[in-house]
Amino acid sequence: MDFAERISHLRPEGAYVVLARARALEAQGREIIHLEIGQPDFDTYPHIALAGIQAIANGETGYNPSAGIMPLREALAQDAGRRRGISLSAEQVVVAPGAKPILFLPMLALLEPGDEVIYPDPGFPTYEAAIQVAGGTPVPVPLDEGAGFDLDLNALDARISPRTRMIIVNSPGNPTGGILSRASIEHVAQVARERDCWVMSDEIYARLAYDGDVTSIATLPGMLDRTIIVDGFSKTYAMTGWRLGFGVMPAALAEKMSHLLVHSVGCTATFTQYAGLAAILGPQDRAEAVREIFRQRRDRLIAGLNGIPGIHCHLPQGAFYAFPNVEELGRPVDELAGYLLEEAGVALLPGTSFGANGKGNLRLSYANSIENIELALERMRIALAKL
Ligand code: PLP
Repeated sequence: MDFAERISHLRPEGAYVVLARARALEAQGREIIHLEIGQPDFDTYPHIALAGIQAIANGETGYNPSAGIMPLREALAQDAGRRRGISLSAEQVVVAPGAKPILFLPMLALLEPGDEVIYPDPGFPTYEAAIQVAGGTPVPVPLDEGAGFDLDLNALDARISPRTRMIIVNSPGNPTGGILSRASIEHVAQVARERDCWVMSDEIYARLAYDGDVTSIATLPGMLDRTIIVDGFSKTYAMTGWRLGFGVMPAALAEKMSHLLVHSVGCTATFTQYAGLAAILGPQDRAEAVREIFRQRRDRLIAGLNGIPGIHCHLPQGAFYAFPNVEELGRPVDELAGYLLEEAGVALLPGTSFGANGKGNLRLSYANSIENIELALERMRIALAKL
């Protein structure tokens, strides 16, 4: 079968591939510890789930405006603006079924064939996929592991060209858990202003930063007019399967986004949006408490990883991922990940699932209980000692 060139580079997401293999092993009776999937291991908080159920009971099951229901756009403008210290209007907010459309659709709206987009490598695989589908040219920029996976600014400067149309940043980052330094954010902002390019700032983990708030690049002078903030409910409110995300962008782009949404997905489920409204307006104590749970897991996991010979792991500052360096073990990381799944029953991902620069690392999600993390560490230690 012939397929269009624009999808020729698409590959499945590594996490889904490993999950399928882990499930197959489970079907054979193996007991697997899941550290591969990037989703909170908590149920959606009850008051949010009930608001969704109530909305269905109230008949909120029809089409609605493609960019989202006004009460949610207004609440998001207030909430997202207040958290970042900027003033936003509902016209700058677009609601979508997940954060992923907010990664994809602006590329369709902004890129001409051959326009270059700089993105972090290792980074979330959808960046490269979205750039390619939109006809752009992906330009990976490495992260500096020695600096806690901050952007390598020299490499960034070397990759800027007259065709650079957009720069993607992600802080706190997947897969590294790193947070970009203030200097990096200011540097990217300066480049974007000088070169007149867009910044896509993926802030989906902004509420999962362990040492205070993360600065959004959109708050720097002149940046609100050229930044697309990507955010959503999946991680903050344990709502991955509800499919609810949002973006903040200049109103003119938001209008184009509403056209792209109406002709692709139509709109986001109405009852899902009412659940989101309850999440935003309701108590935030669960979301805050969960961050402390993740912090404890992080501390336990990183200490344990650093206790295994041949593994060195930075203390991640945000999100729920560890990205340990395993180069000393002297094996390709995809082989190591396969070995740990088959031999130890620990499902995790090779760093190469996130780009070529992940070749020395594994990615572990600590969205799992302390007990399972302890058990995974013990099994990994035993299995790796046999290599
Ligand atoms: N951005 C990053 C960095 C992510 O890790 C994810 C999900 O794993 C997303 C965006 C997509 O989130 P959503 O499930 O809301 O589409």
